[in-house]
Amino acid sequence: MAFDSLTEKLQNVFRNLRSKGRLTEDDVKEAMKEIKRALLAADVNFKVVKSFIKNVQERAIGQDVMNGLNPGQMVIKIVNEELVALMGSETTEIKLQPGSAITVIMMAGLQGAGKTTTTAKLAGKYKLKGKKPLLVACDVYRPAAIKQLQVNGEKQGVEVFSMGDSHKPADIARAALEHARKNGNNLVILDTAGRLHIDEDMMAELQEIKETVEVHQTILVIDAMTGQDAVNVAEEFNQKIGIDGVIVTKLDGDTRGGAALSVKAVTGKPILYVGMGEKLSDLEQFYPDRMASRILGMGDVLTLIEKAGAEIDEEKAKEMTRKMKKNQFDFDDFLESTKQMKKMGGLSGIMSMLPGMGAMGGKKGMQLDDSQAEEAEKKMARMEAMIYSMTPAERRDPDLLNPSRKHRIAKGAGVDISEVNRMVKQFNEMKKMMKMIGKGGKKGKFRLPF
Ligand code: GDP
Repeated sequence: MAFDSLTEKLQNVFRNLRSKGRLTEDDVKEAMKEIKRALLAADVNFKVVKSFIKNVQERAIGQDVMNGLNPGQMVIKIVNEELVALMGSETTEIKLQPGSAITVIMMAGLQGAGKTTTTAKLAGKYKLKGKKPLLVACDVYRPAAIKQLQVNGEKQGVEVFSMGDSHKPADIARAALEHARKNGNNLVILDTAGRLHIDEDMMAELQEIKETVEVHQTILVIDAMTGQDAVNVAEEFNQKIGIDGVIVTKLDGDTRGGAALSVKAVTGKPILYVGMGEKLSDLEQFYPDRMASRILGMGDVLTLIEKAGAEIDEEKAKEMTRKMKKNQFDFDDFLESTKQMKKMGGLSGIMSMLPGMGAMGGKKGMQLDDSQAEEAEKKMARMEAMIYSMTPAERRDPDLLNPSRKHRIAKGAGVDISEVNRMVKQFNEMKKMMKMIGKGGKKGKFRLPF
């Protein structure tokens, strides 16, 4: 997914920091320089980068950090917290009208950003939550757009309202609302027309819709692949028509991802969802903390577990999180998560969400090709074999693993003892990360001095 290269660079910086027992001010400054370069290379807005680095540096150069027991880890923790703050700290839900009142959402964005696809994805999400959505084809300039909405609506089992291409979008919106009232739809999502660039006509059209029907939420769809342009587009839309939130699409691609990191700080509007693929199910709620974990290469086990959906209940997911935070995540939990992963098929697709697995992908991080995926599958199988060769007590308490026990495990799994050592070491490192990330921290707002 996006951020692979940023993740790799940050991990190098962190490795360097962790290898030092004590940190001098110069060490921290040097690390900050590298982080700055990495963020800029990931196409994060330069003002955002400047302010981010300033915040991290101020906190990292404090006495508590540099004289602490584990200064490298502390700096990583600060970077994580500031990344979370940068992306808005809290998850923002789309605000729906109370009770059975109809909520009207207007989708806006440039042509090709993924608006029509995202509209259908969103409808599917809310249908699952018990809403009765109505999709409305307000893009009257591209007949193909109407057709596309109809096809996608049908796939989602959601009704699509269209009046062809000979009416004004505002009139279509008004008629759609009447239709919704009669048919008991409580969520109306307007798919509006995009243009290749921002122009006055587009803005005027969106404005007219807003003046004709009561729009409760205006959601802007931006394409992560267009980098800083996407952020500029968001700023302009926000100034001209006012937006309530943003959906960033195509974060699954080979994009540098900077837009996702900058948009909240620049516009003040939160990311609501992220598009992670072309399939209609590829829309994920946006969690700043989980995204930060993914960016730092520390995995996003929670999203992974959620993806397993029906296979694992919420209680179990909560229990796992609790264990991670308390540093009690054990080999049994690890086995459980690999089981879930298999159910979801395709190891390579979910590699980026697993802590400590990024390095397996070689230079390109988490984008595995077939042979790398095969290699990774083999590695996983060997890890499982090692865990299965442990006694239940050993799985619960890795500290029991003394050399003679490790020998027994290596024999049982048919691997070399060095591989057992490596696995246990990696597991312990992963646990440390989880504990640190799990502790969370400052919920303060990201400060931007402009
Ligand atoms: P619109 O012009 O803004 O309505 O854009 P579309 O919905 O037609 O999407 C443009 C293209 O982007 C289509 O080929 C979509 O399948 C693709 N697309 C949309 N969202 C995503 C996403 O999150 N990931 C990927 N990989 N492709 C997407």
